[in-house]
Amino acid sequence: MVVAPVELTVLGAGPAYTDRPGATGAAYLVRSGATAIVLDLGQGSFTRLAGAIEPSRLDAVVVSHLHPDHFIDLVPLRHYLQFEFAPSRRVRVLGPSGLADRMDALHATPGFSAATLDCEELSGPVEIGELSVEPRLVHHTDESYGFRVASRGGGPGLVYSGDCGRAADLAPLIRPGDALLSEVSFGPGPVAEGALHLDGPAVGRLAAATGAGRVLLTHLQMGFDVTATIESVRARFTGPVMLVEPGANLAL
Ligand SMILES: [Zn+2]
Ligand SMILES: [Zn+2]
Repeated sequence: MVVAPVELTVLGAGPAYTDRPGATGAAYLVRSGATAIVLDLGQGSFTRLAGAIEPSRLDAVVVSHLHPDHFIDLVPLRHYLQFEFAPSRRVRVLGPSGLADRMDALHATPGFSAATLDCEELSGPVEIGELSVEPRLVHHTDESYGFRVASRGGGPGLVYSGDCGRAADLAPLIRPGDALLSEVSFGPGPVAEGALHLDGPAVGRLAAATGAGRVLLTHLQMGFDVTATIESVRARFTGPVMLVEPGANLAL
């Protein structure tokens, strides 16, 4: 069986707010063969999604948690699907419980989400077209997920941290050779008291302990130096390390 390669296109790689121009909220397009999903759709990322793929062609949007920098551009997606097509089109959305209610409340309109989004609660592993998506609860909000995404035919996967306050939560998702797309909110560290995020040393130790093939850093907060952040990972992990920016296209 020929395994279609898995391709990652970074649409948005920012944190909740930043002064880096163009750094929109989290959004990662993952494609394999004819299948396309997007992991998270944070603020400002719909435009980039629409520049990369016709959004109604998405097989699913998979949301890590209900912070706006990870899901709020479901609003323009919902409008796009309703108003750009006659009849309107629909996209499947998998995420934490209460996602549809949260968007409905934002608009004070019951049924707002359901007009064009088929929202489902994440529970266990799910197969979406040619991709398999394995969610795992991580320490952040009451219900936050990290994911491993891979071709159903095998091959290296992509493990995405979402926002995560405890690196060990991600370890069971990572298989040797996987690409680890990890938040590094607090740069070279340390993580501020009580903040449920990661820093470079934690990501480096995780990657080394699990045999990750490479580390793709993202979600860097304002005020942290990029070079020092990358070096803090490299001090603990000998594989390739880079901070990803929108527009990056990588084959796994
Ligand atoms: Zn975030
Ligand atoms: Zn968050």
